[in-house]
Formats: sequence, C-alpha cells, structure tokens
Amino acid sequence: MSNPIDYDTVVSAVVDILEEAETVLPKDVVVALEKAASQESSPVAKEQLEAILKNIGIAAKKKVPMCQDTGILIFYVELGRDARMDFRLEDAILEGVKKATRSIPLRPNAVDPLTRSNSGNNTGNGIPDIKYELVDGSSIKITAAPKGAGSENMSAIKMLNPTEKDSIRNFVLETVLNAGGKPCPPVVVGVGIGGSFDKAARLAKSALLEKVDEMSEEETVLLDDINSLGIGPMGLGGKTTALAVHIKKAHCHTASLPVAVNIQCWANRHASVVLGGDE
Ligand code: SF4
Repeated sequence: MSNPIDYDTVVSAVVDILEEAETVLPKDVVVALEKAASQESSPVAKEQLEAILKNIGIAAKKKVPMCQDTGILIFYVELGRDARMDFRLEDAILEGVKKATRSIPLRPNAVDPLTRSNSGNNTGNGIPDIKYELVDGSSIKITAAPKGAGSENMSAIKMLNPTEKDSIRNFVLETVLNAGGKPCPPVVVGVGIGGSFDKAARLAKSALLEKVDEMSEEETVLLDDINSLGIGPMGLGGKTTALAVHIKKAHCHTASLPVAVNIQCWANRHASVVLGGDE
C-alpha cells in the first residue's frame, strides 16, 4: 500500500524546491564554473567567472535569488501510477508558486502575452508550465526549473530537410553565435533532434536538466566547437562560451528533421523533491 500524499505537503515542498533552485546552484554547475575560472587565460574572462562565483556564494549564504530574473516557472512531474492523492496536483503546485512568490520573494514575471498585464504571482494561463510523465511506483518527483528570459529568448528551432543532417552542427553554432553575450554565458546548450516541431523543443529544454559533467563524445565535440567561437563569459571573449551541451533525440517522420536549440544561462537552476512512496 502506498503512503497517501496530502495537499499541504505538496504546497510546502513546491515552496522549498523553488527556494533551493533560486538560491543554490547545483554542485555540478558550480564545479564547472570553478574549473572554467581556473582555465581562462584572459583576465576579463576570469574576472567575469569569479564575479559569477562570488554572486552564487552570496545567494546561497543569504538565501536570496542568484539573479534578479527569477524566471518563468517550469515543473517536471514524474507521477507514479500508484501514487495516492485526493486533490488536483496542479492546484497544489499553483498555490506553492503563489506562496513562494511572496516568501522568497520571486519577481512576478508572468504576463498576458498581448496586453502585458502582470498576474503578480507567477501564475496565469498555462503558467507555471507543468510537464507530466507517468512512471512506475507510488511516489511523485517534482522538479522546479526556473527559466530566465535572457537565455530563453535566444533559443531557436528549425525544420530541416531530412537530407540536411550535416547542417545540424551549423545550426547549433549559428544559434549560439547569434546569441552572443545576451544569454549571460557561459551557457548550457540543450539540443533536441527529431520528434516533431514541439517534441524537439521539449527534448532540448529537458536536456538542460542533465548533469553538466556527464557528456557523450558527440556532445563533447560540439562543446569544443562552441567554445572555439570565443564568445566567452558574459560575451566579453574567452575560452568558456558553454559549460556543456546535451543532445536528446526522438524518432521523427520520414519527411522531417526538426532541430531545437534551447539555451540556458550560467544560472542553470533546478531542484527536486520526491513525495509519497510505499508504507
Ligand atoms: S539570462 Fe540568466 S543570468 Fe542572465 S539575467 Fe536572465 S536569468 Fe539572469
């Protein structure tokens, strides 16, 4: 028999993971930034990375957001098919977001796309963006991944011709080059290949949750190509334009080759909680 999950537990867990995501950068990202700072030979690049590291240290110590743009709120939910709840999970996540907006506090970023009127609490039509995946087991895992606009705005998608697979590398490099210093590099680059128009974008974004120090050979080669662009930390030149590249693929229509590139700034924020489980 599985443990029932109650509404208030979800609400406070959502507040906790949002606070953790906004104030404490995952260890693998911090280590990658430290390594980059030690390897940069340009004094300006080194200085930028050291300023980022100092900022991260202060945010974690004082429990304040590491960036003024606390992002649009994205949640990944792995929902155990035997999990027991007698409420709508979405309601509890929304209440957690509203509470966290007041308590952390978070910048209210959610606006109507055309009138630009601000809901004031980071919720609205379709926001937070909650992505559900049904999995085995009786627990639920909730991951919060706040996404800043500076990097999201520089992301791109292209429907390539199936014969153009050799253009994928160029499309990724072109996207990073066009972005320049705008997405606050060093960035993490998520690449989604295949699926459909929207599936490729989802693959690219979810790739950003992968650990920065765990890359395949294919990803490492693309990372080296990106870093040879010389954009550098905050776009001021240097060896470190990106900390990592992650590629996710899905089968696609024989007549399609969708490719999406989701760019994530150095503030590669995410935190998770697991609730419920067996008694
Ligand atoms: S791109 Fe990232 S680091 Fe830059 S302002 Fe936005 S959230 Fe902050």
